[in-house]
Order: sequence, then structure tokens, then C-alpha cells
Amino acid sequence: MDIMFKSTRGDKSLVTASQAIVKGIADDGGLYVPETIPSIDFPLEDITKYSYQELAYQVLKLVLTDYTEEELRYCINSAYDEKFDTKLIAPVVSAGNDNFLELFHGRTIAFKDMALSILPYLLKTAAKKNGVNEEIVILTATSGDTGKAALEGFADVEGTQIIVFFPEDGVSPVQKAQMVTQTGKNTCVVGIKGNFDDAQTAVKKIFTDKELKDELKSKGYVFSSANSINIGRLAPQIVYYFYAYAQMVNAGKIKMGDKLNFTVPTGNFGDILAGYYAKKMGLPVNMLICASNDNKVLYDFFKTGTYTIKNREFTVTVSPSMDILISSNLERLLYHLSKSAEDTKNMMADLNTKGSYDFKIEDEFAGEYATVAETFKAIKSEFEENKYVMDTHTAVAKASYDKYVAETKDTTPNVIVSTASPYKFAKDVLRAIDSKYDDIEPFAALEELEKVSGVQIPAPIKGIDKREVLHKTVIERDELRTFVQNKLK
Ligand SMILES: *Cc1c(COP(=O)(O)O)cnc(C)c1O
Repeated sequence: MDIMFKSTRGDKSLVTASQAIVKGIADDGGLYVPETIPSIDFPLEDITKYSYQELAYQVLKLVLTDYTEEELRYCINSAYDEKFDTKLIAPVVSAGNDNFLELFHGRTIAFKDMALSILPYLLKTAAKKNGVNEEIVILTATSGDTGKAALEGFADVEGTQIIVFFPEDGVSPVQKAQMVTQTGKNTCVVGIKGNFDDAQTAVKKIFTDKELKDELKSKGYVFSSANSINIGRLAPQIVYYFYAYAQMVNAGKIKMGDKLNFTVPTGNFGDILAGYYAKKMGLPVNMLICASNDNKVLYDFFKTGTYTIKNREFTVTVSPSMDILISSNLERLLYHLSKSAEDTKNMMADLNTKGSYDFKIEDEFAGEYATVAETFKAIKSEFEENKYVMDTHTAVAKASYDKYVAETKDTTPNVIVSTASPYKFAKDVLRAIDSKYDDIEPFAALEELEKVSGVQIPAPIKGIDKREVLHKTVIERDELRTFVQNKLK
């Protein structure tokens, strides 16, 4: 069956998967969602035998139905190869009673690699299929990890350009160094004097700016997005939920068919939404536990049924990739649960005008959050008790999960989705373990963490502080449109 995609906000046009991937966002500003969520067409047992690549094919063929087998296998094999430092691609590692799905074995040591190593291939293939001859310009707002993963994915990919905007003071020193040293003649990295929401809002505005789009089209450019609003980002993330489940079965931690919980450190709601899709496709998932940091807008939403950014301070935490107040992908969940584009559109309009909307989600999801102190405590105790070093985002999930269990007494086995290598946030990880590191220089922290953890510094960030800074531009948050216009001459 062909799966078609439509906007969450009611635009009636149906597009194929490849068209949705090229467009990034629907014309009415809504996000593309599958008209129906497909079910797996193979016995669930089979997943325990599949390699990551084979499983990716079996899952993606159900969602991206207008890609041929040859095209999909080409995209999958180009993405999930030696760029990852383990053949497993996404291993589940157990420490004490905790199971971590490690999604940080790719080139930028964070989970964004899972989707962004395949997106350029999906996009190039989609452009070819749909007769798009213009140069594809990827515009991305990043809270730190997306930007670098997108840059790595698209660098020197023929027929594409990539422009990344990041909050100048809202990413870690290692994240910043990773981005501003990016090579590739088609890459451009720009700091914004503002926070992630400012950058994301400005980029979204450009995507729906018809005048600008027409102007640039006449010059031979089309925009696309590498943010998790692109369905080409979301679909590949469904795969690892199946893969984690298979590993839990193979390790004897659950029996085939048993329910499993996932706890997901959440920002833009893309990762956890992929888990929801996996569940709807037939994976036995019980609860999806949405973990937030001090920017706990999602926690409050799940508890109260009101999503509100009114009177809410944006807080810079030690888990910057989750410092988000407007979780874009939640719109997709609202659409699926309300079953109404009209209602979804109204909720989004309310958010815009009133700063809040109401919608109560009763089951399947639980919201929890962890403060910075709780996050640090989780890192320290996990290290002391289980000799496992978590990054700050993973630690938010771990601390949130422990709170969830204390509150609910839920005994369902659980997988904590581990979204970054501790090396990406080495200084804060060390500070959590011992306050004697409070003043350690961020790059010296890399070497120190190697001694403390016994895990080698990942190759992609070894010596990063000594690489040449290639991108130095910083602009005001209201200058994005002009910047893009001037850049694409
Ligand atoms: C992006 C990111 C998240 C949040 O994922 P979403 O899909 O935006 O919810 C969590 N942790 C890390 C390390 C990330 O890079």
C-alpha cells in the first residue's frame, strides 16, 4: 500500500514520501504526517535476526513507500557504514539494572547522526525522483547537535548547500568547536544572538516566506530542512526502537512479545515521536516516558493538559540540546491523537497568539523532568555504582525514569535512550562526578574524562580545539532572512 503524507494543519494536498522530504514543511506551515500509520508486514520475531541495515530496510520500506528497494538500500548502506564506530550501529549496553540504547556511535557522537547520516541520501534520491533541478539549500536551526550532524551529512554532497544557525551562547564549547571548524565548500555556519527558539522560529518563517522562496527559485535554489520537522529525519529514527527491542530479547532481558518502556531525553519531540510510530506499527511498547530538563514545558503539559510558554523563562541548562520551549514535533502527536487537522491548527494558532493551548493526553505517555542538581546526582551515582558514564542528556532521562518508577511503581522493563557521548559534554560530566573539576578547561576535560572513565576519546573530537576556525559570522536574530538572501546570490 502506498503511504501518502499530508499536513497537520489541514492543507488538502497529498504528497508522496519523497515529495514530503524535498519540501520539508507543508505550504500551510503544518508538518507532514502519514495519512495512515503502516503496520509491520513481517513477524515481529524476525527482528531478532536482522542486522541494523536489514531492519532499517524492513521498516523504512513501509513508510517511504515511493522509494524503490534499490534506492532505499543504497541510502541505508551509504549511511550506516564505517562512519559508525561499531558494527551494531546502535548497541544496547546494560549497566546494573539500566539498559542504555547508545545512539552516539556516529561521526558527531550524538543521536542526530542516526537520522542525518541518511537524510542527504534520501533527499538527493527524492530530488532526482521528482525532477528537482535546483540546488537544494538546507536551512537548519540547531540547539547544538543537529547542526554538526547535518553539516557532516551534507558536506560536499553534490547539488546541496547547507546553512546552520546556532545560538551563540547556547551550545557547549565542544559543540561550538565542532561546528565552526566544519570543512566542506558548501557549508556555512552562523551564530545567532538569541536562543534556540529564536533561531528555529526565524528558520520556520523563511520556509513559509513565499516571496523569498520565489525569488530564490528564480535564481536556481530550493529550500529544504534538516530539522526534525522533516519526515526524512523522523522515519529513520523508528528503526532503532525495533532494534533496541530485538537486543533486549536477544540478551534475555525480555521475552518476544513482552511490553517494554522507553525513556527518552526530549527536546523537539522527534526522538520520542519515532518511538510512538514504532508502537503504532506493532512494537510492544508500554509507556513512552518523556524526560525534560528545567525547561519542563512538556512535563507540565503531560501532567496538566495545558501547554504554555506564557511567563516561562528559557533556562540554559547542562543539557543544551533539550533547552527548548516550543517542541515542534508535538504537533504531529496532537494531530494523530485529536484526529483533526482543524483542532491541531487551532492549537498551534493559540500557542502563537495566547502562548498556550489545552489538550489532555491520557495514556501511553508520561512526563518527568530532572533539575541540573538531579542530573548531576544521576551521573555521579551511575558512575559510582555501575561504572557507566552518562552524558548530561542521558542523565536527565535516567533521573526522570527513577522518579517515574518511584511515583508509579511500574515494573515494565525499560530502555533509556542515550543520546550523546559523555565526551560531548565532558566538563559537566566531570563536575558531576567530582566538584574538584568545577574549573577545568573544557578541552582539558576531554583528556581527563579519558582517565576517569577508561573509555577512549572518540576520534571525531580528538584535538578539536586545535583545528582552524572556518566560520566566524554572528548575526542578530532578526537578520536571518537578509543573511540568507545575501548569501544566495
Ligand atoms: C536533539 C537531542 C535531544 C532531543 O531530541 P528531540 O528529538 O529533539 O526530542 C536529546 N539529546 C541530545 C543529545 C540531542 O542531541
